[in-house]
Amino acid sequence: TELTPMSLSPVLKETVELLREVIPATITIEEHIDEDEKIIHGSSTQIHQVLMNLCINAGHAMPEGGTLSIEISPVEVTRNHLPKGSSFPTGQYMRLQIRDTGHGIEEDILDRIFDPYFTTKRIGKGSGLGLSIVHGIVKDHHGWITVDSQVGVGTTFQIFLPTLET
Ligand code: ADP
Ligand code: MG
Repeated sequence: TELTPMSLSPVLKETVELLREVIPATITIEEHIDEDEKIIHGSSTQIHQVLMNLCINAGHAMPEGGTLSIEISPVEVTRNHLPKGSSFPTGQYMRLQIRDTGHGIEEDILDRIFDPYFTTKRIGKGSGLGLSIVHGIVKDHHGWITVDSQVGVGTTFQIFLPTLET
């Protein structure tokens, strides 16, 4: 993958425009872009793919409508923020947060959702590849992804990507 210095906000804006066309009008899409954006080493097409996969899933989780919120902000990652046992450096990261008010994910499958071909969708409805692709892209960007979900309340994915200042 070719990684070049880039900012996330143009990709986010473009993707949201596209999402407004493909996601039902019963879903409110909110975007929050922190002014203090930091440059990352990334691929715009791959970040676009990540956002699409996560947001399409969010849409599927809200068949009766709801709110999809996409947020980017800089975060200072300290030792406590790092995933357990990881060797990522502390420092300045950009965080991409995708939150929905959908049906949520049962706790007993939470550790399998990133596996290739894992899906809870009916045959023909889901390939089960979306999140494994997301996971691969995030890894290629030297970042990590976390998920928090509450059944009946919603799901939040957070992606941490190192900035050029990390
Ligand atoms: P697919 O969408 O084809 O099923 P994915 O890899 O994109 O495959 O997602 C795997 C599974 O993770 C989904 O089938 C669903 O059970 C769960 N999932 C992913 N995103 C969400 C979400 N935002 N809300 C609820 N469940 C989700
Ligand atoms: Mg999917």
